[in-house]
This record gives sequence, C-alpha cells and structure tokens, in this order.
Amino acid sequence: MRKRLLLRGVLFAGLLVSALGASAQPFAVGPLSAQPGQRISGFLEVPDGVDKGTRIPITVIQGTKPGPVLALIAGTHGYEYAPVIALQKLRGQIDPGQLAGTVILVHIANLPSFLGRTIYYSPIDAKNLNRVYPGKPDGTVSERIAYAITTEVIDRADFVVDLHCGDGNEALRPYAYWTQSGHPQVDEASRQLALAFGLDHIVISTDRPADPQASVYTDNTALTRGKPAITTETGQLGETSPQWVALAERGVWNLLQHLKMIPGELQPPLQARAWATVWIDKYEVLRSPETGIFYAEAKPGYAVAQGALLGRLTDLFGNPLADIRAPFAGVVTYVVATPPVSKGEPLGMVGRIRKEE
Ligand SMILES: [Zn+2]
Repeated sequence: MRKRLLLRGVLFAGLLVSALGASAQPFAVGPLSAQPGQRISGFLEVPDGVDKGTRIPITVIQGTKPGPVLALIAGTHGYEYAPVIALQKLRGQIDPGQLAGTVILVHIANLPSFLGRTIYYSPIDAKNLNRVYPGKPDGTVSERIAYAITTEVIDRADFVVDLHCGDGNEALRPYAYWTQSGHPQVDEASRQLALAFGLDHIVISTDRPADPQASVYTDNTALTRGKPAITTETGQLGETSPQWVALAERGVWNLLQHLKMIPGELQPPLQARAWATVWIDKYEVLRSPETGIFYAEAKPGYAVAQGALLGRLTDLFGNPLADIRAPFAGVVTYVVATPPVSKGEPLGMVGRIRKEE
C-alpha cells in the first residue's frame, strides 16, 4: 500500500516536472528552435537525392504555458491556396504570449507543386504527396518531403490537421474527413477535432491502411502513430477569396479553443455541433473511364438521386464518350469544373448522408 502511494507520489512529481519543463525548454523542429513565448520561421531542408531537393517553409510558435503540440499542414497539394493563405494570416495572429502549448505551421508542404502550379502531382517526380506517406529518406522528392514531415512534424505533434481544398480543377463544398483508425480513444479525439473545426459536413472514412509504415495519407500517418488527426477541405479552383480563407482560419481558432490552447469556451459546444452536422457514412470518388474533356452538370453541394447526371465526358474532338452518373443518392462534395481529364483521374465525389446521429 505504502509502496503504491509512494509510486503515485513519484508519478505525480514526474508529471508536474514534465509539464513545467515543457514550457521552460525550447521547442525544436528541424533546424528551428522556439523558446517559450517565441515565434520563429524558417525552412526544413529536403536535400538533393535521386532528384532535386526542395525546402519546406514552417513556423513554430511556442506558448508561455504548457499544452499540446498542434501541427497544421497546408499546401500538400500545391494548387490548393485558401489554406496556405489562412496559415499566412494565422502566423501573425497567434500570440505566443497567450498560447498554451505549441503550434507548428507547415506553410507549404509541397513547394515544387506550389511554385510549379501543378494539381495533384509533383512537377519533379509526378507523385501525389498525399499518397506516399510516411515517405523515404532515399526516395524521390515527394517521398523525401513526406519523410521530413513525418519525422520532423508529425512525430513531434500531439494533434495533426492536414488542410486541403478543392484542387485547381475542383469545385467543392466545404467538409472535413474523420478517418477512423479502429482505436476508440484516438477516433473519439479525432471526431472532436472534426466537430470543433466547424465544417457542417463530415465524411467518415474507414478504409485507410493500419500499417504505420504504409500509412499513405498525411492524416493517416498521424493516426497510425496514435495521434488524433483530421483532413479539412475549404476552398476550390485555385481561389483565394476571403470566405474560403476565413473558413480555414476560423476552424483553426476553434481547434485552439477546443484544445484549451487559448482562453475561452468553444461555442457552440461539440454536442450541438454534432446534432447540426451532416454525416457522410459512405462515399465514392468517380474516376474518368477515358482521357478527354469533362462538362460538369452538377455543382458541389447538389443533392442527387441515384443515377442523376453529374457530367458528360467527350473525346478530344467533342464526340460523346460517357455520361457520368451518381452511383447512389447523396450529396456532391466536389466535382471537376475545368475541361481536361485523364483516364483514371477523379471527376467528382458523391457522399451518402447518414440517416441519424
Ligand atoms: Zn488536396
């Protein structure tokens, strides 16, 4: 009995020391080291390898009080601008003097794609950064970027948000992905992140790999390492309009409040948000059967019946190739809204609305 009490005392003292220690130590990400109360910006270097290297602009903001580490990753796809602009604004707005814990901003994960203005794929290795996690130190540049983010950012974080929007070719209505990992505590914490962020449609994803060495996606890299994570979608078509930027900004402030990293209570509370949320419990990404030109008929946010026309595909001369129809009744979350499509690429996504919550 006494031994247990003693052990408890030691454990408590240990927790106290680690909590105090957390705020008294610099917090390092790669070559950047932020003291308590400090905001620091710089680059994670991705060295040259089998192809040309790159670098990743990041900011580390360490608060003056202990708290969790929240990683916010934008620009995984380089033509998805609204979340990138949101992080530019948040960098100056998050006050380290008021912050409990640490925020890591990955401003533009995929700089080759951003500067090269490419959708989906890197202009260097033609790979999709959000399909190569956890990456490889000796792989091609997208794999080396993923490796740097896995080891320097995700491994250092307690919570991870991968901020996307419709890519340069995609019209989109805002939503978040709640990816279930099969670990109840992680999944509940991720669900709360999705609700707190505040987008009114949440897509439940259950088909992600469980192997941390083959995590494939950014959010799943965190989840397979036991860290709650979500992916958000706010914006479309290369736009930087204030309403898209504000959605991502507001979502981050909501998360900071939910995680008790800034003062104040999240309003409305999570349960009220859960009631108001449209839960999507099944979804399908429709892929182009051929290379050609796509004419969307549906718009993002449309409620569609099974078999409803989403768009028409023609060949490169304008001859009809296929009508693309909804596989089941649901909501159109995004749809390709510019002409070119290659065989196998997405044309849009339909989500089925869950009946009750
Ligand atoms: Zn994306």
